[in-house]
Amino acid sequence: MSFTVAIDGPAAAGKGTISKEIARIFGLGHLDTGLLYRATGARRLEGMAPLEAAEALRAEDLDRDDLRGPDVARAASEVAAIPEVRAALVDFQRAFARRQGGAVLDGRDIGTVICPEAEVKLYVTASDHVRADRRWRELVGKGEVTSPEAVLADLRERDARDQARAAAPLRPAADAVLLDTSEMSIEEAVEKACAIIRAALDL
Ligand code: C5P
Repeated sequence: MSFTVAIDGPAAAGKGTISKEIARIFGLGHLDTGLLYRATGARRLEGMAPLEAAEALRAEDLDRDDLRGPDVARAASEVAAIPEVRAALVDFQRAFARRQGGAVLDGRDIGTVICPEAEVKLYVTASDHVRADRRWRELVGKGEVTSPEAVLADLRERDARDQARAAAPLRPAADAVLLDTSEMSIEEAVEKACAIIRAALDL
């Protein structure tokens, strides 16, 4: 049985970790669609025009090891507000969603725009402070010098831009199941997500 799981939500809510685990447990392919915008944003920081960067994107660009930092995240959310950039990245995401064996995609507009027909839709969220704390620990673990306050301000700025943009703004699909991970461990969140998927698919 082949199916698509669409996972959306704000930055650092736990989408990435949950998606990877779901992919492993159900044997699905996984696409972190934020990487498409991050790779485009990284090229933008190197001086390339955003649309040109999006159109020239190749799968191997998603493997760059410099896509996780806050500067690239900000550049990603800036290029992601350009409708032509989003349009240039649609086909790749839809093709992935239909791959043999099924797929889980995580991002901001997967349930609303990229895969409105997905069999399962999750909207993963957590409080601002919990998300900022998680992201701060992750960045510090990678050797970045930053403060929890700076990370919180960055997340809020990025969420506000992602929610306010006219093109495919961040919002839950009408039929998405809400998963608030503020009070959950990773294991609990993954378990809950698996239960939602099994219920939606009658497994
Ligand atoms: O998920 P991640 O934090 O890596 O995404 C980086 C940025 O890319 C987001 O802040 C958002 O602006 C953009 N994005 C998007 N649509 C997606 C995935 C990411 O607009 N499906």
